[in-house]
Amino acid sequence: MKNIVLFGPPGAGKGTQAEKIRLNYNLFHISTGDVFRYNIKNSTKLGLLAKEYMDKGDLVPDEVTINMLNDVVEKKFNDNGFIFDGFPRTESQATALESLLNKYDTSITGMIALEVADDILINRLLERGKESGRADDSNREVIENRIKEYYSKTAILKTFYQRKNCYFGVNGVGDIDEITARIVDVMNSL
Ligand code: AMP
Repeated sequence: MKNIVLFGPPGAGKGTQAEKIRLNYNLFHISTGDVFRYNIKNSTKLGLLAKEYMDKGDLVPDEVTINMLNDVVEKKFNDNGFIFDGFPRTESQATALESLLNKYDTSITGMIALEVADDILINRLLERGKESGRADDSNREVIENRIKEYYSKTAILKTFYQRKNCYFGVNGVGDIDEITARIVDVMNSL
């Protein structure tokens, strides 16, 4: 069983690469951003709450996010494992994930972090916004706030997983397939 955290700042390519890994290793892919967007589209209570934060580029509160993630893992638990994309984003989310997986006698196998410079991220997100129409990808201020949130609350998780000897940095710049090959090298070593 492999439980992978695919990590990196907004625009690092987590969603694209998660899909490739999911297919290669038959893992269940959970993107917390996608779950929130699905709830917003369907005007659920969770969606209405998350939208307030997402529109500004702020993180959705931990309690809400952790409860949602717990529900998905409980429903989709499987023997191959999970790829967590966009979760955890804070230390309390990482601790909650650890306890949740402990209940199933398992743990995070590795955090694979896509490393990309900030100026490249901003341009990638603005380009993605033109195609996808995602509101939080179309406004430079919101993008900058998301990157700020990443550095103030999320980047610290590098140390959290390094301490457990399961942090793996991967160069996230280049062709999509080239980056997938770098991730596959790490995956095969786990
Ligand atoms: P993403 O699709 O991963 O770029 O996430 C889009 C937005 O959803 C983020 O800017 C946050 O507002 C929210 N979000 C997604 N995942 C999380 C999380 N693990 N914790 C808090 N907020 C999240």
